[in-house]
Amino acid sequence: MISPADFDRAKKAALDRIRLSGFVLSPAEQERMTVLDFGLGNVMSEGLETAHYLSSERMDIKVCVLLRGQTVPQHLHPPYNGQMGKEETLRVLSGCLRLYLPGEGASSEPHVPEGKHAFYTLRRELQLHPADQYTIAPNTWHWFQGGPDGAVVLAHYTKADDSFNQWTDPAVMGPVGRIGKP
Ligand code: ZN
Repeated sequence: MISPADFDRAKKAALDRIRLSGFVLSPAEQERMTVLDFGLGNVMSEGLETAHYLSSERMDIKVCVLLRGQTVPQHLHPPYNGQMGKEETLRVLSGCLRLYLPGEGASSEPHVPEGKHAFYTLRRELQLHPADQYTIAPNTWHWFQGGPDGAVVLAHYTKADDSFNQWTDPAVMGPVGRIGKP
């Protein structure tokens, strides 16, 4: 459970990053902004701030903030119930996003959250900068992280049930899915 103090600290920092990026959120969207810690209890290390501004039958679009070094744990959006699974496109507005995918290793060792090496096995690294975007196909393991100045990212998703998401770390809790192995 995220503490109110951590929630407020992460949200304030995220709103500052969005303001600096030039992307404008309405007061209501700012108010609704959420902070996720994936049930891991260390939001500045493993966490994400999101403001959801489109949710239709077929699409979800959010602005997401990853603070410096803040990481979304390794996960997968698998096919389910005859659906392909979620397709996810990340486009960077400001800062740098480090995205990790299956494949050959990065030139340097990734900054895996402390004590969590067992749960971050992907080593192919893409460094995305403003105007760079990448589409993560359904059923592809991935994790990502804010660079030295964090990252503000537009995240575009096909509609999918997140309760089917799979996570490498068995400690990930809540309505975010179940455990899987890459
Ligand atoms: Zn994802």
